[in-house]
Amino acid sequence: LAFNVTILGTSSMVPTRHRGAPAVLVEHAGEFILVDCGEGTQRQMNIAGKSRARIRKVLLTHWHGDHVGGLAPLLQTLFNGSYEGTLELWGPAGTRQRMGHLACAMEIELDRIRITELEPPLDSVQVFWANDSYQLSCAAMRHGVLTVAYAIATHGRRRVDMQRAAALGLSPGPLVGQLQRGEVVESGGRVIRPEDVTYWQPGRKLTLVTDTTPTQEIVELARGADVLLCESTYGSEHEDLASAYNHMTAKQVGMLARKAEVGQLVLTHFSQRYDSVQPLLDEARSEFPETIAAEDFLNFQI
Ligand SMILES: [Zn+2]
Repeated sequence: LAFNVTILGTSSMVPTRHRGAPAVLVEHAGEFILVDCGEGTQRQMNIAGKSRARIRKVLLTHWHGDHVGGLAPLLQTLFNGSYEGTLELWGPAGTRQRMGHLACAMEIELDRIRITELEPPLDSVQVFWANDSYQLSCAAMRHGVLTVAYAIATHGRRRVDMQRAAALGLSPGPLVGQLQRGEVVESGGRVIRPEDVTYWQPGRKLTLVTDTTPTQEIVELARGADVLLCESTYGSEHEDLASAYNHMTAKQVGMLARKAEVGQLVLTHFSQRYDSVQPLLDEARSEFPETIAAEDFLNFQI
């Protein structure tokens, strides 16, 4: 299990009776990465039974109010409580200045936050953080204001096929460890190469895209992802609105998922005009069958 994902809000622009403002919680190795923080995110976390104290990273896509409206109150809660360590926060260029404005207006302890601004070059995906377990990457979107989309991916690793290893006379131990690290070993007078007994297990990948018009960068950022969680603000009947407001239709999103060859597409960020999002789901599925529509508190593992 690489990621435990909880979608906290699935509305666009305004919260509705059944849908909160945008926010997604990604759990990896016991820590939380929060992607966007719409108003009401704290309450959504309460309902989902997720502890705020475990948030270690915040990734902001852009500074439209529906995506950041819950940030100041969340930070106040964290730093008034028993939060330990430094919170890491990333966002598009301008994020540091905007965080300064928030801190002036609402008494936020900025010295407890490490802010990094992202300016991914056009037409490419930028890896901006990694440890030995996973990496974070981003790409520039087109939404009228500076916007980035994110991918969270665990590293692939070499695994030992113990049946094949045993057939060559190896048992668990240091030699197997060396093979796993890609080293050639000698056992019982014979040379064993990593490719004789190991295989490559690819990492897991989640791509989160909101808000934007369709771009090639989405395809690059989502390429091969196990799950693409993507805005799907409108149906094709409102393609003109989608284009005017720099959003996407479900059909456009389905086409991107197909091009990127993702495993599963999850639609979110729905216009409040849709009481039922079934028409959007049908539309996306006509392009990419492996599609579901998110509800608030949808939880899935990758
Ligand atoms: Zn927006």
